Amino acid sequence: MQKLTIPEDRAERLHYIKRIFSAAKGADLPSDWVGGRSNGIKKLHSIDMVAYSRNRHFINGAVSHLSPYLRHGCISLNETYDFVKKQHGIQADKFVAQLAWRDYWRQVWLAEGDAIFSEIEPPKVVINHEPLAEDIKKGKTGLPCMDAFIKDLLTTGYLHNHARLWLASYVVHHRKIDWRDAADWFEANAIDGDLASNHLSWQWVASTFSSRPYFANKETISRFTADAHCAKCFAECPFNASDEVLSAKLFNTSISPAAKQYVVTHLPKKPVSISPAIAVFVHDEMLSSVNPLFEKPFPKFFVFDPLLHGNWSLNRLQFVADCLSEIPNVEVWAGDTVDILMKRGVGRIISQDTPNRRVRELLESFVPKYEPVPKLVNVEISAQRLKRFSRYWEKVSPHLLRPT
Ligand SMILES: Cc1cc2nc3c(=O)[nH]c(=O)nc-3n(C[C@H](O)[C@H](O)[C@H](O)COP(=O)(O)OP(=O)(O)OC[C@H]3O[C@@H](n4cnc5c(N)ncnc54)[C@H](O)[C@@H]3O)c2cc1C
Repeated sequence: MQKLTIPEDRAERLHYIKRIFSAAKGADLPSDWVGGRSNGIKKLHSIDMVAYSRNRHFINGAVSHLSPYLRHGCISLNETYDFVKKQHGIQADKFVAQLAWRDYWRQVWLAEGDAIFSEIEPPKVVINHEPLAEDIKKGKTGLPCMDAFIKDLLTTGYLHNHARLWLASYVVHHRKIDWRDAADWFEANAIDGDLASNHLSWQWVASTFSSRPYFANKETISRFTADAHCAKCFAECPFNASDEVLSAKLFNTSISPAAKQYVVTHLPKKPVSISPAIAVFVHDEMLSSVNPLFEKPFPKFFVFDPLLHGNWSLNRLQFVADCLSEIPNVEVWAGDTVDILMKRGVGRIISQDTPNRRVRELLESFVPKYEPVPKLVNVEISAQRLKRFSRYWEKVSPHLLRPT
């Protein structure tokens, strides 16, 4: 275990994290993705809502780039919603619908728990479960569009929603790769890597949590990328056909396969010494200095634990370090969470509620008390409604879209 001193100077900070986590893969965090609340707020304030509503489907559209800030709790979903409604009124409706997707996937995770890491429903078409191929991991598929998306993911950690959809459908349906294998890889390399939004989106594409598989044809990809890749592509295009022809080529719908279940490994509960000392455990979804838990009069700890962050890319670890550099009085460590908390004499933990089983298992010995996260919309959503976004949206949209 090692106590870390996150440097105040940004360049030093990036170097420091690179040195401490020398095994972490990928590129440094680019300067337009500085982590932390202040940068998240800056991005929130600079959304051009008119342009967003008009061109968000295009790869170079005016999307907000807020996902890593929302994922790590630098800004909350509720404050983002309140701000855009107040600032932009009904002009923000399209954006609000996107925020609802994030809330929806999160609600599904809360309801389903670890079931989101297995196929929630049987696939509606035959999908295979080939291991993730090396050419995909390296961005060397030979298709300029897919290789550019993978390169972007590996260098910046960010991809536009449509590029994610196209890449996922290529991987799952054209290459017949195991969606779960691919989702794990994607999540580890995305600076906004989110177990709910990511894994459930892969299931949505695969058709194990949707009524049909998602795939795109060349016309769609070419249009929304402004022909950026197709114009200079000499590869045999696997997307160049109508939806009907593609569907017939990709899927055999005559077989109804079963939902694949994946093994869930649990951490053994470690015995800890009994101590009355309380501490706040700062996990990676609550990295904002205005989180109410930071007002508690207890020591605060953040741990880069290999069990939680061992496969994270370098730029994501740097993003988290940026976030931590803005939060005063948090002890930052690298190592085994239980050993570190024990060494520091902690007996009890307060933290922010999370569906992340790994975090909960690590903290189990410390009689954790979890503070709830305010819901985006304070209504009960039935299990039936949570099966599809459209049913969830039917229930929440009257609340989210009403005039302020
Ligand atoms: C295969 C796949 C994997 C994905 N993995 C992740 C992930 O690991 N982490 C993650 O945060 N999002 C993930 N998404 C959802 C979505 O692609 C990103 O949230 C979005 O592209 C982030 O860009 P933005 O902030 O500029 O979005 P904007 O269009 O500006 O949207 C604003 C916010 O709304 C939320 N949002 C928008 N679209 C979606 C969506 N489809 N699902 C959930 N929330 C959404 C995000 O929090 C986003 O920051 C994934 C989508 C797919 C198809």
